[in-house]
Amino acid sequence: FEGMALVELAKRTGEGIASLQNILVNVGEKVDSEFDPISIDVAELVAMEVGANVRRLHSEEGAKLERRPPVVTVMGHVDHGKTSLLDALRQTSVAAKEAGGITQHVGAFVVAMPSGASITFLDTPGHAAFSAMRARGAAVTDIVVLVVAADDGVMPQTLEAMAHAKAANVPIVVAINKCDKPSADPEKVRIQLCSEGLSLEEMGGDVQVVEVSATNKIGLDKLEEALLLQAELMDLKARVDGPAHAYVVEARLDRGRGPLATAIVRSGTLVCGQHIVVGAEWGRIRAIRDMMGKVTELAGPAMPVEIEGIRGLPMAGDDITVVDSEERARMLSVGRKKRLEEERLKNLNEGRMETSGTDE
Ligand code: GDP
Ligand code: MG
Repeated sequence: FEGMALVELAKRTGEGIASLQNILVNVGEKVDSEFDPISIDVAELVAMEVGANVRRLHSEEGAKLERRPPVVTVMGHVDHGKTSLLDALRQTSVAAKEAGGITQHVGAFVVAMPSGASITFLDTPGHAAFSAMRARGAAVTDIVVLVVAADDGVMPQTLEAMAHAKAANVPIVVAINKCDKPSADPEKVRIQLCSEGLSLEEMGGDVQVVEVSATNKIGLDKLEEALLLQAELMDLKARVDGPAHAYVVEARLDRGRGPLATAIVRSGTLVCGQHIVVGAEWGRIRAIRDMMGKVTELAGPAMPVEIEGIRGLPMAGDDITVVDSEERARMLSVGRKKRLEEERLKNLNEGRMETSGTDE
């Protein structure tokens, strides 16, 4: 595939030629005529910038897809044991096993099963992070673990979490936690969940329920198995070869190393040294570290890594796109920042107009 003319791209994206031309200038491309071919990479970038679904105009088709681990988020009502459950699961993770329990915090961890399969857990529980990411278009989570305390039952945030998962079309696996407590009543929780519209497996539905105790570390293996079964049903696959598309799940500023982003690759392979655009920021990958802090050259699908070399601090949910050159990365970033600023001003003005309207 050699490329396509601007007219064709306009047709496919539904955008005007002028606005596409504007973006082309932003990414450092010059076209003399709307009939001149532009390279497929540039066409992809432009399509991406207008939010059109023309991404991977070429490579996804016919690309070799491989099974990938599920990415799991834990949600549930406050104090029902999300953090405790994540801690308990983390102790069953590769890092905990190999490094004797010493894990640095990177926002995600991987649990490897004896079968060779693995599960990636996002470390930020709660639906705030989940909806923040989703609001930014980041479909990072494949499965939600809904934690419900066996002694407390379904509570407002349990229902919120259910609603979020449903809106995102993400399947739920229920973990009834605190089953060690004498006051635990998992049957009651099941009935509550059913009456809230969750079709549990025991009742002929497709939502698995596992009884656990985060404190006593009971049922964790069952939960992990349930997640793998769910993942298998979903037949999660990703392209491994070719340029990566990834999401930021967490970002922080390190005094010595600068901005650090924990990212999860959705497809393709991220390679150290590549130029990237991260949300409205840009940079060149100076180092990739795995969740044990070990430097690695590559990152494939569903593997959580920490990326060093971004020039500004990105936000959770920002997408990471690999581009050809520093120049292009910089220009895309400038273009995005400009657009963000325009949107901000527009929102500000609209707010002002509304206020002045009520004044009169
Ligand atoms: P979060 O707000 O959902 O993150 O809940 P936490 O993980 O902070 O747990 C809230 C409280 O419940 C803490 O005091 C935990 O020690 C306790 N807790 C969590 N899991 C269990 C469990 O399986 N059994 C018992 N008995 N207590 C638990
Ligand atoms: Mg917590």
